Amino acid sequence: MNKIQLSKRLAKVASYIPDKARLADIGSDHAYLPIFCVLSGKISYAIASEIMEGPFEKALSQVEQNGLNSHIKVRLANGLEAVFLDDEIDAITIAGMGGTLIAEILEHGLQKQRLSSQERLILQPNIGESSVRHWLMNNNYQIAAEAILEENDKIYEIIVAQKGIACYSDQELFFGPFLLEEKGEIFHKKWEQELVNRKKILSSLKKAMIPNHKKEEDVQNEITWIEEVLKK
Ligand code: SAM
Repeated sequence: MNKIQLSKRLAKVASYIPDKARLADIGSDHAYLPIFCVLSGKISYAIASEIMEGPFEKALSQVEQNGLNSHIKVRLANGLEAVFLDDEIDAITIAGMGGTLIAEILEHGLQKQRLSSQERLILQPNIGESSVRHWLMNNNYQIAAEAILEENDKIYEIIVAQKGIACYSDQELFFGPFLLEEKGEIFHKKWEQELVNRKKILSSLKKAMIPNHKKEEDVQNEITWIEEVLKK
């Protein structure tokens, strides 16, 4: 029986992992995601990677308690340094971090030749989603799917990518090409909140002793994009 109950956010991330994939979960605090996927029979091999000693120990003990030592390898490493081409990983999850950090982990993995280009990337940035989309486009990854969901009053986005050439507009990189196309209820809720935040930021920037015209212009542009998208 699967004793691990995933959050709605992690369950949605898990839903994009192909059946029988060899998974690397980077930043695998408690290793809940790989444990759930192995216990449910979705996959039979995973690497759970952690950079911090504490979460690494927690992941190790969870894997051991579930009797999954032969299925899940817990590795203490910086991001994709936990992955070797011999592991034949074909799905990578990086969830619950900022978009800038996710992009840095991918870039570092690329530099260290830890990406085979065959793997599906399933990325769940808590903020800064556009940094992830920029990295994907600049490195010839195509966005294959996106999701947006709400849990405990927080809104999360999930970006799924595969190797492939794609060119996205500035607005698609900002809002997400699939999310922009769908414009669902949670998308509207998110961008209504973001509009309020940006209007506050703009008003503070205008009152600042030291003017930052570039920042003001950027925030004003984003406000215009959001207003346009919300009225359509
Ligand atoms: N992925 C889980 C989730 O979505 O619930 C855990 C998210 S937790 C907020 C982020 C985890 O990523 C932390 O345990 C942190 O130590 C780990 N982490 C941050 N940077 C990392 C890196 N470069 N390599 C591996 N793990 C990292």
